[in-house]
Amino acid sequence: LVSRKWKVNRTTIDLGDGVLIGNGHFAMMAGPCSIEGEENIQKTIDHLKANDVKIMRGGVYKPRSSPYSFRGMGIDGLKMWHEAAKAAGIKIVTEVMQVSQIAEMYDYVDIFQVGARNTQNFNLLDELGKVDKAVMIKRGISGTIDELLYSAEYVFSGGNENLLLCERGIRTYEKASRNTFDINAIPILKEKTHLPVIADPSHGIGIRDHVEPVALAATVAGADGVIFEIHDKPQEAFSDGQQTLDFEESARLINKMRALTEMS
Ligand code: PEP
Ligand code: MN
Repeated sequence: LVSRKWKVNRTTIDLGDGVLIGNGHFAMMAGPCSIEGEENIQKTIDHLKANDVKIMRGGVYKPRSSPYSFRGMGIDGLKMWHEAAKAAGIKIVTEVMQVSQIAEMYDYVDIFQVGARNTQNFNLLDELGKVDKAVMIKRGISGTIDELLYSAEYVFSGGNENLLLCERGIRTYEKASRNTFDINAIPILKEKTHLPVIADPSHGIGIRDHVEPVALAATVAGADGVIFEIHDKPQEAFSDGQQTLDFEESARLINKMRALTEMS
């Protein structure tokens, strides 16, 4: 069902208020790795508004390798974020980690993100298939492209066609970067599926100075959008500061991506 054999025309995701993704509509989604509090939320929103970016990312339920790391603000953080984002006309993409969180988060989310550690959580995918909100599935940490497509098939066949796919890098033998961003996945997914394909260069390479070239490469390769981590003081971020752009770097990247996508 997610293949172009089934549906030739590319899917457009409509988040409302004129925010469209896919089929010629390039989407930028930026924000902190983790939502940290009121000030962090407002500073990010102000930056996004100033740069005309309509979708904010951020985790309130964080899958952390160590249980002692910051695990997110939870539902109260999401409610606080939603209030500020709604007032600013900004849409929210955030990770849902388990089935029980779907109902609790529903009113405050525009795109449910399925993280790389949950790409094959088939119960979660089944439940998201019943939801009338967009879902973005990230490629598994060691997941193949076909496995990602089968995960999408779970949600789509459940009845939810508002789906996006995200290449976020895979685990390889290479240790010079956090993950190996698979640029090949972009044109291959675009050939195989009618769904929008989003690139996550932040987790894809994991090194702040190199996020921009990977983001631009993915844009040129045909991605329908880029999701990336930003913070007013990356060195003080609660998580993933090493791969997080400051606002100056973020504005530069936004302008470069805009120049590329408006050219084509
Ligand atoms: C994230 O986007 O914050 C995240 C945890 O990403 P991933 O699931 O790709 O590791
Ligand atoms: Mn992160």
